[in-house]
Amino acid sequence: MGGGKNRMAFSTGKKESKIKVQQTVQRMAEGRRNDLLMNTTLINELAEVAKDSAVMQGFLVRLKESPNSSEEVTYAPITLFPTPVPKAIFLQAMEVQIHFNMLVDKISQDPDFLQAALASTITVDDFTAKLFKIHQHVLKEGRLQSIVLGLNRSDYMWEQKDGHTSLKQIEINTFAAAAGGVAARMPDVHRHILKVAGQLEESQRIIDNNPPVGLAKALAKAWKLYGSRQAVVMFLVEENQINILDQRIVENELLKGNIATIRMRFEDVSASGNLDKDKRLFVDCQEVAVVYFRNGYMPRHYKSEKAWDARLMMECSLAVKCPDISTHLAGTKKVQQVLAKPGVLEHFFPDQPQVVEQVRATFAGLYTLDMGAEGDETVAMALATPDRFVLKPQREGGGNNIYGQEICEVLGKVKSSAERMAYILMDKIQPVPTRNCLLRRGKPLKISSCLSELGFFGAYVRQGKDMLMNDCVGYLMRTKSSEYLDGGVASGYAVLDNPLLF
Ligand code: ADP
Ligand code: MG
Repeated sequence: MGGGKNRMAFSTGKKESKIKVQQTVQRMAEGRRNDLLMNTTLINELAEVAKDSAVMQGFLVRLKESPNSSEEVTYAPITLFPTPVPKAIFLQAMEVQIHFNMLVDKISQDPDFLQAALASTITVDDFTAKLFKIHQHVLKEGRLQSIVLGLNRSDYMWEQKDGHTSLKQIEINTFAAAAGGVAARMPDVHRHILKVAGQLEESQRIIDNNPPVGLAKALAKAWKLYGSRQAVVMFLVEENQINILDQRIVENELLKGNIATIRMRFEDVSASGNLDKDKRLFVDCQEVAVVYFRNGYMPRHYKSEKAWDARLMMECSLAVKCPDISTHLAGTKKVQQVLAKPGVLEHFFPDQPQVVEQVRATFAGLYTLDMGAEGDETVAMALATPDRFVLKPQREGGGNNIYGQEICEVLGKVKSSAERMAYILMDKIQPVPTRNCLLRRGKPLKISSCLSELGFFGAYVRQGKDMLMNDCVGYLMRTKSSEYLDGGVASGYAVLDNPLLF
């Protein structure tokens, strides 16, 4: 997937009538889908076919009870059927990705902006404050490495209002954006299920998706630019390696290009990591060209001060960091909220009004909770209509956001103190539910009203002033039962899915 012309949807009358036809065809397809979902015998049969197909495609995860062993594995959780997605929405998200890559990169290069954006947050949020301290340390020492590698995922939902569909960004993950590997195995699973269900035409409409190739291409480029043949790409991983198979798919892509990878935890880096006189990073006696962080985005990932020291050592090293500390901070929810303020996108794209428009079109309402009149207004608005909003702390990984009545409880406690600055408020995106059947090991089959999210993977490599690669390298579709407000596959709410474009 590359960039391309901006094809913003729903502009002309001719286009609108075409869309109406597409929507009618889509409603008919939904009718057929709902008939299928009523046929319990068929659904049970298809579920078994789906599980076999998933296992045969290598669409697998380790078991919760044995996360550090592949002796026993199971199919990754999936929907039985792909979910319809308007083509225009899909293309819009795909095409804006290269601009989000540029935006994240520009933010990471703007210490004054990061300082101003995070000033309030770091006074009350210890985790962000610790990350910010590392960022300041690196700035003071001076950045050694001019190679920048960004692998991110921008997540969206889409809403329908007054006959118009609009794409809305949930967040951009600039750190450990996961599930790209496993997503590549998904199209064949759904193609197979649909064929068995006699839906040949739909089966042929499932498009290919191969994020690991693009992710590995960017990692390989950074490795090559680093310029040492014996150096390795180090995956910085968790103690609990339940997601290892997703990462292995990327590792295997690197191996195809004869690039060696190692897997290390913060503890391993503490125990056997060091910098030589030129600040080259060695772990377990191997020179590290690229540190690919798949762990380190939650406070609990840093079990002791030693883990923080290891992070600082890696950040101060000559190794390419994916992401580096400033790119990590660029992905915070506070930065997301500041970006939505008037004039901020213009600051980053001063001569590109079209880019500003394209990026801004994906923003949902985002509101500050900083002390002062604006923050007071946010509090009043949230307390008056909590169901319209999501309250977000500066955390990643699912299960941290606050919804509905709980917003009143949490904000009620912190509304007059600086503690409220640890949060941002966001409009709740209201996607249209679809019906599907969710498959998860050990759980009874359940036909549910579902909500879906699409994430697009961005990959870029810059050396000094030269952007050498800037691509959208694939997507991730996740679907959850609409009874859950929060999402996330790892957190157990969502399952993997494919878009069926219409
Ligand atoms: P995390 O960093 O924990 O992944 P996110 O901001 O991505 O935090 O939110 C987690 C999940 O909560 C999303 O995947 C989505 O399902 C739901 N969610 C988050 N923001 C919104 C929103 N503005 N409207 C509706 N649902 C949301
Ligand atoms: Mg998220």
